[in-house]
Amino acid sequence: MAAGHPRGTTSRADDNGPEERRLVFPPVRNGLDYLIDVIERLLPPVDADGRVGEVSDINLKYALLHLHAGAEVLIKARLEQEHWSLVVQDALPKNRQANGVTRAQFRRGHFKTIGMEEALDRLKQIAEINLDDHRDALTQLTETRNALQHYGLNQTAAAVQSQATAVLDFLITFIHEHLRADLPREERDQVDWALHEMRGRLGRLSDFVRGRMALVAPGLRDQVAKVVACPVCAQMAIVIGTTPIICRFCFGHWKGPRDAAIHYSYNQAKPPTYGLDQRHQHGREVSVHFCPECDEGALVFGAITAAAPERITFLCFACGTDFDQQLCTGGCGNLIRRDAEAAGTGLCPKCAERRRREEEEESLWKILDE
Ligand SMILES: [Zn+2]
Ligand SMILES: [Zn+2]
Ligand SMILES: [Zn+2]
Repeated sequence: MAAGHPRGTTSRADDNGPEERRLVFPPVRNGLDYLIDVIERLLPPVDADGRVGEVSDINLKYALLHLHAGAEVLIKARLEQEHWSLVVQDALPKNRQANGVTRAQFRRGHFKTIGMEEALDRLKQIAEINLDDHRDALTQLTETRNALQHYGLNQTAAAVQSQATAVLDFLITFIHEHLRADLPREERDQVDWALHEMRGRLGRLSDFVRGRMALVAPGLRDQVAKVVACPVCAQMAIVIGTTPIICRFCFGHWKGPRDAAIHYSYNQAKPPTYGLDQRHQHGREVSVHFCPECDEGALVFGAITAAAPERITFLCFACGTDFDQQLCTGGCGNLIRRDAEAAGTGLCPKCAERRRREEEEESLWKILDE
């Protein structure tokens, strides 16, 4: 936990009554406390000689759990600013006989709260705050949290650090843009103080991610046409066309190219954070097909490489062929092999076969006509 940081205010209930120590954690401060804890846990330890060590598994685990808790608290705090009932699952009674949730019950915490997805929907519809650009990262965080609670952690420190840095970045902006202004003066001052503390630490964490990427980047530079974003850590750090496929940043790995292709297509919406390219990519349709070049089921429709981040292409994770513009000229929509293009036919085997039969028929009619 951060030292020297003002925690929940303690207050006296009543000057006449017996002294009572009460902890008051307003939601925004509470969320910030979680985030500060997350950064503390994710910073790699440095020993007396300045050697950077590994973040422990237990710290990774609690960093993810607390990051999720912090994100939920902060997003709901904004809903609460709109109206307290917006964070309650069934605020209104379903029928006249049933009871809804009263403000008094809400204050005591006697209610079922909504989940992350629902909170994002309500923010968008009711508070007109659209967080769709971050929905994937937040949903993935929820999924990782759930997996962690049921099956344990299955990710490397670097992957967690990269994922978490992106969410932390977003949350700090979110507090600034949507939460801070409407806080009571005293709470706002405390929040500003905590944000100031955080930014310095987050800088160290971002530096770590950038530093690691800088370490990895030279090894990727001469093969950028085969470098794509890792589905685990979102860094532009996996080289396709090799077996096994390993992420240079987080060491996430896949048995074969098909596994990597499927995972990539499933996770494509996640934007890279501090990769070779920092542009966000959204709304891509990504699917996996059989490759006409090597016959492996590892051809990704909708891939983006580090070589050309602005271009969405067809990329085989097995043989590494980039099928950009290599569409069959027969109008069937199939991709064609490089040698077919080189041979100048520009046709897929099916269309080539059809063309051959058509030509045969034509010459047959010619013979019959004569
Ligand atoms: Zn990775
Ligand atoms: Zn292939
Ligand atoms: Zn064709």
